[in-house]
Amino acid sequence: MFRSNISAIFALFIILLATSVPARPAQLKTENSGGRLPADPKIAAVLKQVSAQRIQANVEKLVSFQTRSTLSAQDPGSIAAGHGIGAAREWIKSEFERYSRDCGGCLEVKTDSFLEGPADRIPKPTEITNVYAVLKGTDAENAKRIVLVTGHYDSRNSDTLDAAGLAPGANDDGSGTAVSLECARVLSKLKFPATIIFLTVAGEEQGLNGSHHFAQMAKSAGWDIEAVLNNDIVGGDRNPQQNASVVRVFSEGVPVAATEAELRLIRNLGGESDSISRQVARYTAEVGRTYDTGVRPMLVFRLDRYLRGGDHYSFNQQGYAAVRFTEYREDYNHQHQNVRTENGIEYGDLPKFVNFEYVANVARLNAATLASLALAPAPPGKVRLLTKELENDSTLTWEPAPGGRATSYEVLWRATTSPEWEHLQAVGNLTRATLPRSKDNVVFAVRAVDDDGHRSLPVVPLPER
Ligand SMILES: [Zn+2]
Repeated sequence: MFRSNISAIFALFIILLATSVPARPAQLKTENSGGRLPADPKIAAVLKQVSAQRIQANVEKLVSFQTRSTLSAQDPGSIAAGHGIGAAREWIKSEFERYSRDCGGCLEVKTDSFLEGPADRIPKPTEITNVYAVLKGTDAENAKRIVLVTGHYDSRNSDTLDAAGLAPGANDDGSGTAVSLECARVLSKLKFPATIIFLTVAGEEQGLNGSHHFAQMAKSAGWDIEAVLNNDIVGGDRNPQQNASVVRVFSEGVPVAATEAELRLIRNLGGESDSISRQVARYTAEVGRTYDTGVRPMLVFRLDRYLRGGDHYSFNQQGYAAVRFTEYREDYNHQHQNVRTENGIEYGDLPKFVNFEYVANVARLNAATLASLALAPAPPGKVRLLTKELENDSTLTWEPAPGGRATSYEVLWRATTSPEWEHLQAVGNLTRATLPRSKDNVVFAVRAVDDDGHRSLPVVPLPER
């Protein structure tokens, strides 16, 4: 009796609720005003396998080569002696090959070698080799889509031209190299419809030479790279002002690769904060709120730090979306310095200054982002905002996401002054939506969703008249 009364009241309540509440778009509500993706238990489980001990062992191994200067030795004798960049390169290759054996040959381990110089910072012709592992997508159409993580395995000391002196490069960029390796190790245990590339480049300290060559090769081969995650100085240097709960994510605003026509559009419509790289940065923030990685992305809306550059820029130059991860507070005594003690101050990029738990957390954030994107459908094609008429509603159209994995779409929007997406409306498996909201007041985007709730990168529409 009591129970049936309760259920009758409850049923009435549901009916009232259903009839009295108008259908409203779901709000993205989190502490950071952005969204949260639905967590995938497969991804959550694989993040637990990221190991700070393995990362420490890998960074210490990289340091053991004494120098990884791009100008250092790479002859067979030095490789056999475990000294110089050639030995580092061979070891990275052998690590990728070991991970591949553990997954039944799932990784294709490759090198990209070329001759550079003489050039600025490269006094004589020098062979530069990028080492990478490809985890090919399991779905023929979606395997053409690539997400990529990279770090540079070359190092330097106070003198960029010093080919033989000690240059441990534990943080810069042993940490980023270790992130690429650890992502390869844990993600090779899963299958993804899209392709993931785990890259380590050389020549960064001489002028981004390795990444420049790789990005150019990718562009000329027509590779569809959806996102590049560049990890450079993610060691969480143990200085007292460090904030180990945060990692900075840098992204360019106005794309360096934008054409004159694209720049005109950006100027006219306020697209300064909607480069494809910035969408990747926002995506990392969503991933950071979704999974327990131990580190929170702090989005920095600029290409890089003052006076500094990095490998993501090489990809930006070729028109790819690419962001840079860097620890919250750098200690310049521990980068680009000869190992020494002066006036009681220790200089040099040594493993003892690196917080390996922090590097592991950054690796988790990277792995979660790579996995989320590689499991997601392709973004919708040809997203357009209709601007034929002066009207207060906004109509968006798009083409179905290629690859056949998308089963529905979401329209996102935010105030023009807001850093992250604030609202979303699920619109089902359609290719057109009209929202009672003026396009003059917000920024819109559309993203694709699959049956398991994986979200693609959002695409900001072009105006169509
Ligand atoms: Zn670096």
